[in-house]
Amino acid sequence: MTLTASSNDDVFVITAPSGTGKTTLNRRLMKDPGLIGIAISMTTRPRREGEINGDHYWFVDEAEFFAEVRKGAMLEWASVFGNYYGTCYREIERIRGEGHKIILEIDVQGWTQAREKLPGAVSIFIMPPSLSVLWERLTGRASDSPGSQWRRIQTAREELDHAPEYQYFVINDRLESALAELKGILMNQPDHHLLSRKSGLEHCQKLKEEWEKSPVFRQLRTQFSSGNSTPEGS
Ligand code: ADP
Ligand code: 5GP
Repeated sequence: MTLTASSNDDVFVITAPSGTGKTTLNRRLMKDPGLIGIAISMTTRPRREGEINGDHYWFVDEAEFFAEVRKGAMLEWASVFGNYYGTCYREIERIRGEGHKIILEIDVQGWTQAREKLPGAVSIFIMPPSLSVLWERLTGRASDSPGSQWRRIQTAREELDHAPEYQYFVINDRLESALAELKGILMNQPDHHLLSRKSGLEHCQKLKEEWEKSPVFRQLRTQFSSGNSTPEGS
């Protein structure tokens, strides 16, 4: 399967380390009628309390997931935190058919696969103000086990190495400011607070240094050093 449009300037790829707030931001964007549509990913991850099938994700088992992969129906797919996640082409076509801008919430592996298939797409990397704030958000959400929260912050650190593959950077510190910056990018009218690429990459470097130097993460590394490699929900 391929995409109908020759240009993909209506596609906005949003990547953010888990817990940064992309779901919160995107749900707020959805409140603007007619602005965006979010491509609903397919996942084998167990449903969290409050999540709705076909709204947050299409929750499927591995057999259903790989049937879509074999059919060639997936733009991209990846194993994330021990479960599979992927974007079906038909989600992009559905939103395009409605005349809305298309948001893809995918991880760095997904963007690596999708970027060649989506020339012209706009890529945005959302970062937390600090990794200690990210840790507070991950633990505050309380929907994942402590082992899973730890895997998520470790993965967050790895994802920072991929920041240079993105065009725009937003720091989700104050929600309203981040939202205004994100809307500016979507409307092709960047907010005057939008970070330059240089400042975005500098912030990213600051986060990496925090990971190395902060006593909080030193202590957590010791605490979790026995490891936890089982898939979420199992
Ligand atoms: P993600 O989708 O990136 O994994 P969520 O949107 O689920 O992240 O947000 C993780 C947690 O952080 C949630 O509890 C959410 O309410 C909180 N959160 C998101 N953005 C902000 C913000 N700007 N300030 C404070 N808390 C936030
Ligand atoms: P969560 O389990 O917290 O909902 O999502 C975990 C991670 O999966 C997030 O980092 C998110 O970006 C990623 N993810 C969600 N949907 C997709 C998808 O369709 N493709 C890829 N590659 N990653 C996804």
